[in-house]
Amino acid sequence: MIKGFKNAVELDFSVEENRLKMEEAFRQVEAEKGKVYPLIIGGEKIETEKKITSLSPATKEVLGYASSCSRELADKAIQTADEAFLTWSRTPAEERIRCLKRLARLVEQNRFILDAWNVEESGKNWGEADGELCEALDFFNSYAMHMANLDKGLELIPTDEYTKCIYIPIGVGAIIPPWNFPLSICGGMITSALVTGNTVICKPSSDTPIVAYKFVELCLKAGFPEGTVNYIPGAGSEIGDYIVEHPRTRFINFTGSKAVGCRINENAAKVAEGQKWLKRVVAEMGGKNAIIVDSSADIKKAAEGIASSAFTFQGQKCSACSRALVMADVYDELVDEVVKCAKNLKENQGSGASNAPMGPVINKGAYDSITGYIEVARKEGTIVYGGTYSDETGYYIDPTVVRDVDKDARIANEEIFGPVLAIVKVNSFDEALEIANQTEYGLTGSVYSETRENIQKAKVEFQVGNLYFNRKSTAAVVLQHPFGGFNMSGTDAKTGTSDYLTNFLNLKSITEDLN
Ligand code: NAD
Repeated sequence: MIKGFKNAVELDFSVEENRLKMEEAFRQVEAEKGKVYPLIIGGEKIETEKKITSLSPATKEVLGYASSCSRELADKAIQTADEAFLTWSRTPAEERIRCLKRLARLVEQNRFILDAWNVEESGKNWGEADGELCEALDFFNSYAMHMANLDKGLELIPTDEYTKCIYIPIGVGAIIPPWNFPLSICGGMITSALVTGNTVICKPSSDTPIVAYKFVELCLKAGFPEGTVNYIPGAGSEIGDYIVEHPRTRFINFTGSKAVGCRINENAAKVAEGQKWLKRVVAEMGGKNAIIVDSSADIKKAAEGIASSAFTFQGQKCSACSRALVMADVYDELVDEVVKCAKNLKENQGSGASNAPMGPVINKGAYDSITGYIEVARKEGTIVYGGTYSDETGYYIDPTVVRDVDKDARIANEEIFGPVLAIVKVNSFDEALEIANQTEYGLTGSVYSETRENIQKAKVEFQVGNLYFNRKSTAAVVLQHPFGGFNMSGTDAKTGTSDYLTNFLNLKSITEDLN
């Protein structure tokens, strides 16, 4: 069934043509800076008085202003999506798939401008932005393929009755994405709901409302009818609970922190007056991802994998490594190698909308929280590299390597979501596995080892949704490494798969007596 699917290929920015196109896209972004973005409800563009300011994390300059949605307008958006559901849910899958394929083409045609906005708004580098765009294309193409297959219904045993069992859409979804993958996560969450025949209201992150706006505009241009996809940025505290608790909301697709995910799960469980269903919640949440290095590992390779997982995109990938659990006899060597890699990244650190390996963290809140953890790290271990930061021009934090950290230290157990790596010494592989599994999370994990016995053991005992051996814990590719976490890392929805789409579908079993 997967035959014929090809992952999108990232652009090579060392090719002059690509670099020039990207520079041109940045000029276009420059010309658009400071614009106001309205809500989009039923295709109508509505400007509100209250605004969300989108700031560049690299320079603190204003990129634009998104209209902030009130509860009244959020209600209007849900009613609009509810009405659109009546027609969209009955639109043949073939037509929905056609819209999604058109959307994939439009995203490809707007590749450079989407990449440039992503770089400006989220602070990632060019390669990461384009990698994200490829992931978005992979989501669209995989969901189009899966939907075509699901549309055939469930295979049943033939009898003398007429029977079929078909997948049908369920209703209005509240799409609540994070800021760190403003195109691929937001786009994947929206399109999985649309292609399955549902309608959505999307409340993007207040840090990246412009990328989300550009994407929703493309959805409408691709032919998804007005009202099927509605764009309503707003503060979580103002409309977050409201849209989750609304009686016409049928499901919530959330990706973000554990704290917000738990709150949404709890709020969604309450049955509001007039509500006719139990809401479904897909919640993909945080992580405290560990990489284990045993005595038989290729230490240089392990250090490179750890540093890349911990520090690229400033440690702000949910799959980022933030704990290294290293056997005592290779500990010092591993620490030294990780420091070398961190130093190399730091020396190539960029500023502004650059293509350097490391850039800024997303905002002042994140900067304060991460640098707070660096101060905790000074007490909980020895900082052997980094520990320095500045918010003079943008929110910059150096890659920070902390050694001699106790397994129970805060920096070894709490999600920091920044470029801070805690290295814990272990005396056996069993101890490493025990520590790896001791946090409440279970998202990604890696093991560097040349010992088959250890590898086999970890395959069974390392409790994470995405487990890797002798490679880094980041850079999951659609339909190669289906993504989703265990425990407090989420509901293990495994994005990009056919299983993922069934979260937004009911199965209707139909039987007719032919006698
Ligand atoms: P966050 O939880 O702060 O925000 C996520 C979204 O929830 C935002 O759109 C926010 O506005 C909204 N929100 C806030 N309060 C709300 C409420 N009461 N009701 C409804 N919505 C509300 O997370 P973030 O800072 O945007 O993203 C970083 C987090 O996301 C990290 O914890 C990271 O690990 C996690 N993440 C997980 C995955 C994954 O696949 N597991 C992927 C990316 C990011």
